[in-house]
Amino acid sequence: THPMPPVPVAGPVWLFYNRASGPLAGRSGPLQIKVGTNRWEALDELDMTPAGEVLPRGGSADWYVVQMELPYELFQVDFVVQEAGPHGAVDNNRYNDYQLPVTGGPTETQLLDMRVAALQAQDAQRRSLLEAERMAMMAAMESMAAKVAEEARVAEARKIEAARRVEAQARAKAAAAATITVPTANELPGVWTWRPAPKAGEKSTLVYNKHGGRLGGSANGSLLVHLGFNTWATSLAQPIELGRVQNAQQQYSLPAGEWWGAAIDIPADARMVDFVISDRDKRTWDNNRGQDYHTAVAGAKTPEDVSEEIYAAMAAAGAQEDQERLDRKGMQAIKQLYRKAEARFKRLALRHQTLFTVPSRPAAGQQLELHYNPELTPLRGRPEIFVWGCWDRGSAQQRDKAFCMPLMPSRETGGLGFQTAVIDVPADVWGLDLTFTDSADGMSGFVDNNGGLDYHLAITKGGGDPPGGAAATLNVAHIAVEMAPIAKVGGMGDVVTALGRAVQDDGHRVEVIIPKFDTMNYEYIENIQHTDTFRYNNTEIKVWKGIVEDLPTTFLEPQNGFFWVGCIYGRNDDHTRFGFFCGAAVEYLSRLPNNERPQVIHCHDWPTAPVAWSDRRGMRAVFTIHNLSYGADLIARAMGACEVATTVSPTYASEIAGSGCIAPHLSKLHGIRNGIDADVWDPEGDGFLPMPYGQDTCTQGKEAARKLLRQKLNLADVNVPIVACVTRLVAQKGIHLIKHAAWRTVERGGQFVLLGSAPDQRVQGEFNQLKEQLQRQYHDRASLVFLYDEPLSHLIYAASDFFLVPSMFEPCGLTQMIAMAYGSVPVVRRTGGLADTVFDVDYDTQRASDVAMAPNGYVFESTDTAGLDSALNRALAAWFQDLENFRRLQASIMRQDWSWHSPALDYVELYHKSMRM
Ligand code: ADP
Repeated sequence: THPMPPVPVAGPVWLFYNRASGPLAGRSGPLQIKVGTNRWEALDELDMTPAGEVLPRGGSADWYVVQMELPYELFQVDFVVQEAGPHGAVDNNRYNDYQLPVTGGPTETQLLDMRVAALQAQDAQRRSLLEAERMAMMAAMESMAAKVAEEARVAEARKIEAARRVEAQARAKAAAAATITVPTANELPGVWTWRPAPKAGEKSTLVYNKHGGRLGGSANGSLLVHLGFNTWATSLAQPIELGRVQNAQQQYSLPAGEWWGAAIDIPADARMVDFVISDRDKRTWDNNRGQDYHTAVAGAKTPEDVSEEIYAAMAAAGAQEDQERLDRKGMQAIKQLYRKAEARFKRLALRHQTLFTVPSRPAAGQQLELHYNPELTPLRGRPEIFVWGCWDRGSAQQRDKAFCMPLMPSRETGGLGFQTAVIDVPADVWGLDLTFTDSADGMSGFVDNNGGLDYHLAITKGGGDPPGGAAATLNVAHIAVEMAPIAKVGGMGDVVTALGRAVQDDGHRVEVIIPKFDTMNYEYIENIQHTDTFRYNNTEIKVWKGIVEDLPTTFLEPQNGFFWVGCIYGRNDDHTRFGFFCGAAVEYLSRLPNNERPQVIHCHDWPTAPVAWSDRRGMRAVFTIHNLSYGADLIARAMGACEVATTVSPTYASEIAGSGCIAPHLSKLHGIRNGIDADVWDPEGDGFLPMPYGQDTCTQGKEAARKLLRQKLNLADVNVPIVACVTRLVAQKGIHLIKHAAWRTVERGGQFVLLGSAPDQRVQGEFNQLKEQLQRQYHDRASLVFLYDEPLSHLIYAASDFFLVPSMFEPCGLTQMIAMAYGSVPVVRRTGGLADTVFDVDYDTQRASDVAMAPNGYVFESTDTAGLDSALNRALAAWFQDLENFRRLQASIMRQDWSWHSPALDYVELYHKSMRM
């Protein structure tokens, strides 16, 4: 009703409203104005006050006023006036709202451009911070490389030496053991004797009376002595001819007779000489009535001396090879160091899209600027965001310093992108823990707690010291019944060792506790020693300690013989035996002094599930499901009792979420994909390959491997793609699809290679049949090998172009990741861990980039043969249509990181989480 003057942009504005002239006239409630900027993009409610002092009241004048601050980034202001309170009347200009003309501001288009520019500038700044961080990390790696390589060499040399000593000792012991069963004699008077008495490492003459022993006079011509040592542990290849001793009576003071003799070299390690005599034609024999003759030797070396000699000989023979092996280990260590840094950087880069700080490494006692972008979190689009923080992983000492504060949106970007807060870091903390919400009253609304783990930032001790220190160090004990390479049945054994080592590498204390099985591969255990004995359940338990793959390992040996049964699984009392082991293991840990007792016990699948519900005296239980198909009852109970549960890939976690064992405890379950052991599965350091190769030499290395594989398996040496499969032949692995793929591949001009072993006779029969049929029709295009053959598996990974994994279900699966490390392109069914690791080059570009990956294979969905065909056909077509491009894809997927470097850090987060539960 009053012409409104144009308003200046930015700064304070007084807005006057005449109540008497609108629909609010005659009502008495206090007035509020609801102001929106830029088409109600942001809005504010302000109280208006009567303006009686400035503009007199009366008649048709009843002015109210409000002061407000207008931002510069403004092209439009809208407002309505209302009575305060929930049921107040509104003057909304007959549903049109009021608009304030704006001068000097940008147009809407200009404003949007400004915001885009501001967002880009924000992002550029963020990226330059990230890049600086990358440079710092790489510089740190560079300064560590030489030391790490040297440590790896020393550790490897120690391992080689330890293995050699064990072998030398075993050989010396075996030789010593061989001499103890047979009675010895120094002579048989009148038949044979030694001059002088035999001594190790010297010559002695054996004399034999042709007429004295069992040869009697019947022997023809000269005599032969057939010699051996240490109860025939070694024997001479050729007999030694005895010569006639003419004046034996005088020379050797012997009784009368026809004496024959020969000087014999007695080896230094001989404790016994064994011999029999024959005539020259080996027709008549004196073998002491089947007992042979045995003479004790004086001055033989001790078994220790002998083992030392064997050891020295082995060391000399292997010196050259050792050098190469050490060099390779050194190189591998440097490569792993960089890959570890890359994995860490990638995690940082992913988090950086949501959360970063300035400075990048905040220091105790200083301020930090926190930047948070809700775009990729559950808080996307929420009008207000609050940050909740506490210190040192929620430690009780720092509890009173916990805080909650609102984040400030950025005006330049119109509230998009990053929002900020400034936080004062106390002087005595080492870590900051954060969650974000959309309400200030706690956790009632939307929450971003980083998938249940919260966000954790390291705080340096001022002066740029490394973060963490003793306070962040964990003490973790795995309780398991498998451990590679000493007691491995399936993937669980690999996980225990590789995960344990990776967490140890991150600076934590890790120990593995397993039963002392009689069937273990003891040669991989360094320094095993009996250290203690305790009683559990009226049974004596012997405690042994040793090192396995650099991991301190404790072996429990109950004297009831539960683990002296020649196998790990497969007896009908497995549950009883493992249940007992779990109890004994927890008892063992409970007896440790407080400062040595682990904070976290990590148990695995049904065999060590009972750990979760045992009396753990405060130790936290993290429980990992490797395969839900076995021991579901025990798994369900452990799910209920543990603090944190995991399974071996995110997709498998969601696939089993509905199971009755899991569903009631779903909030505890986290899916973390398994890794592969980067030391074992590294084509650059792989001794099983004809030409080890890296990304740059991928084409040549794979070429050499193909040639050798084709030779070994009698395949034609022609330029066609090789499709391979290395697997246990069980229903889980998609047997019908493997068979189908064999035919499809050869029909389409490729070669098919299968390395597999079938535990089931019927399945084996089917594959025998398939092999025969293929042999008849495509003899040099397909090869099926029914063995468990690790060296051959390495060659197949290297030689193949495509690697097939058509599993019906797959908790994680290792073979597709190994294949990629060797530049073999996976063709897989989208299930479990396969879905998390393989991204289709035609269809999954977006899905891959969401997790900072690049497409790397061919994926199909359905379990029938048509599904497989759709992926395999596309794969083979890619090879035939543009081989050069395909070779580039192969080289590029080798770079993807499937090691434990990153998953291990997720586990560390979960260990910390278990301590907060
Ligand atoms: P699972 O544990 O279900 O058998 P994974 O993919 O997790 O399947 O692990 C399989 C491992 O066993 C891989 O390291 C693979 O190379 C190896 N493997 C399977 N079959 C054979 C075989 N016949 N010969 C050699 N290695 C094999």
